[in-house]
Amino acid sequence: MNFLEEKILMDGTIKQGNILKIDSFLNHQIDIDIMRQIAYELKRRFRDVEVNKVLTIESSGIAIATMLGNLYDVPVVFAKKGESANVTDDKYVSQAYSFTHKRMNNVFVSQPYLHASDKVLIVDDFLADGQASLALMDLVHQAGAQVAGIGIAVEKGWQRGGKILREMGCRLESIAIIDEMDWETQTIRFRQQPERKLTKTNLNMK
Ligand code: 5GP
Repeated sequence: MNFLEEKILMDGTIKQGNILKIDSFLNHQIDIDIMRQIAYELKRRFRDVEVNKVLTIESSGIAIATMLGNLYDVPVVFAKKGESANVTDDKYVSQAYSFTHKRMNNVFVSQPYLHASDKVLIVDDFLADGQASLALMDLVHQAGAQVAGIGIAVEKGWQRGGKILREMGCRLESIAIIDEMDWETQTIRFRQQPERKLTKTNLNMK
């Protein structure tokens, strides 16, 4: 079991409606050590990929993206959400249905923050139906830039997002993949992933 799976089992709560609450370390209070480990692990998994920008969506992706941007020493951009963002010439705009808020959001990035020469690593806290990731990919493509990969902390493996993105040929890495979770028994089953241990060398990688 990896560090994030252990942390989820220790501090996560399953809510009705297929929601995993991890407010104590990611979605409300931010555990810097866990964020650091998530960033190191994503950088390790994407070690063969060139990245010159990290892109996420407000708000919970920002902590992970910032840690990762620090490791890569590249700018971090977060897409903003708005129910009625004006589509103007100076923005790339896409749409995403919010799994947690059950509404359609416009998602946008101002044009100066994405360039055709960018190799963008998209990151987010959760992957469920893939709406947020697909909207972020759309913004990158509108800018004429490349998606270097998609890095996720927690993928809910029974929802369709992972399948859609993998079938599109995206390089998708999720640190913890939950295949089943049950609200009544508060149990979680993770998908088996290769084990790895953090070492000093990994921690110092830049
Ligand atoms: P998707 O766009 O892939 O359908 O959903 C991903 C987005 O919805 C993430 O940005 C995350 O904020 C939110 N989300 C989806 N499922 C969960 C969940 O179980 N718990 C929490 N805290 N957020 C979730």
